[in-house]
Amino acid sequence: MNESIDFDIVVIGGGIVGLASAYKITLSHPDIRIAVLEKEEKLAAHQTGHNSGVIHSGLYYKPGSNKTITCTKGRKEMVAFAKKHRIPHDICGKIIVATKEKELAELERIYNNGLENKIEGIEKISPEQIREIEPFCEGIAGIHVPGTGIIDFVKVAEKLAALIETKGNNNRVLTGYEVTGFDKHDFYTRVLTNKGDFSTKYIINCAGLQSDRIARADGVEPGVKIVPFRGDYYELTETAKEKVKALIYPVPDPKFPFLGVHFTRTIEDMVECGPNAVFSFKREGYGKTDFDVKDTWDALSYRGTLKMFIKNWRYGLGEYVRAFSRKLFLRSLQRLVPSLQNEDIRPCKSGVRAQAVGRNGRPVDDFKIKRRKNSVHVLNAPSPAATASLAIGEYISEIATEQFKLRD
Ligand SMILES: Cc1cc2nc3c(=O)[nH]c(=O)nc-3n(C[C@H](O)[C@H](O)[C@H](O)COP(=O)(O)OP(=O)(O)OC[C@H]3O[C@@H](n4cnc5c(N)ncnc54)[C@H](O)[C@@H]3O)c2cc1C
Repeated sequence: MNESIDFDIVVIGGGIVGLASAYKITLSHPDIRIAVLEKEEKLAAHQTGHNSGVIHSGLYYKPGSNKTITCTKGRKEMVAFAKKHRIPHDICGKIIVATKEKELAELERIYNNGLENKIEGIEKISPEQIREIEPFCEGIAGIHVPGTGIIDFVKVAEKLAALIETKGNNNRVLTGYEVTGFDKHDFYTRVLTNKGDFSTKYIINCAGLQSDRIARADGVEPGVKIVPFRGDYYELTETAKEKVKALIYPVPDPKFPFLGVHFTRTIEDMVECGPNAVFSFKREGYGKTDFDVKDTWDALSYRGTLKMFIKNWRYGLGEYVRAFSRKLFLRSLQRLVPSLQNEDIRPCKSGVRAQAVGRNGRPVDDFKIKRRKNSVHVLNAPSPAATASLAIGEYISEIATEQFKLRD
């Protein structure tokens, strides 16, 4: 590799996908000089640090899809990684609970999908078995998924960063470096940042909520737009949290890519309830009234967003009203745990999902990666990408090896 060039590869984005990709590259190419540039002052400041912390099993996703392949593989690798590096986690299992007759067909479909995806130990459970696992939960039928767990994904990201830097003297994970553009040359690219430039042979874009903009800045038409969906959480109070032992999920609406508000016992022994899914007027806006002119214009001037809104206006409006109504949020929670009362919940955090939407108005379901001669762009890495991150990283490392013709 050319000594006058600062790095062989620059990864943009210090979330779990960027860090796992850089880590996997350092494992298969120990001589490579790699940098991860993160615009915030700390790693995992956006999706990775604002999620539910669930290690998903891979039960829901389309058989044979990248989501299924990387989630089932990545989950096992994530648990092994957590054990090896002493990262807090717990394979506590989860239940999916139907509360209405009309949900039974979808519950059955999910169960069969889980069998097809070879998810270990899943079983159908009766109302009595639901109560044995979760004494305060009421449902008419359910699925028990013993392989689901919880973890601290921020600690995983921090560990990956430390490993990247120890794998090579010239590797860097730099926070507070915002990539603002690219100056392309024949054999290298100058990556422009708020704190100076770096030269690199190759770029890997893992910028999450900003990934379509980074792709465009690199001259790549992403073919999708990132549309931000905020998810708000409540948490159960100290006295109420005993009503949930582990993880309780509803049967999701198959028309939407979100799992519905659920109960998650966290690694800090709290119980979080959420997230909902509301269009956000700011890509990195965590407050209910946050607004950004550029982000809003970007989303609303895009034909795909408008088509999506027209098709799903009733659902979207319902979610919007629920976001501002504690009473309605509580009602969705009471469907699963009927004894919950208003004083049992209090608002806590929120997160924003980067959901790629096609021009046809459909949310892109699977992970989406686009390659160019000297760059790779990760354009859709929604849930379960945190669970799957080590397997996604492996896949991106393979793509980089082939695309950039890296030597072993
Ligand atoms: C509410 C919510 C709940 C979720 N729950 C789960 C769950 O339980 N389990 C699960 O597996 N997944 C879950 N997910 C999905 C998971 O969190 C994401 O798929 C995953 O974190 C994506 O990682 P990422 O690295 O692609 O994105 P991010 O974590 O968003 O990282 C992208 C990084 O790029 C940086 N960046 C952007 N632009 C620039 C720039 N110009 N220069 C430098 N840096 C830049 C950002 O600051 C950011 O840190 C959830 C997501 C949300 C939002």
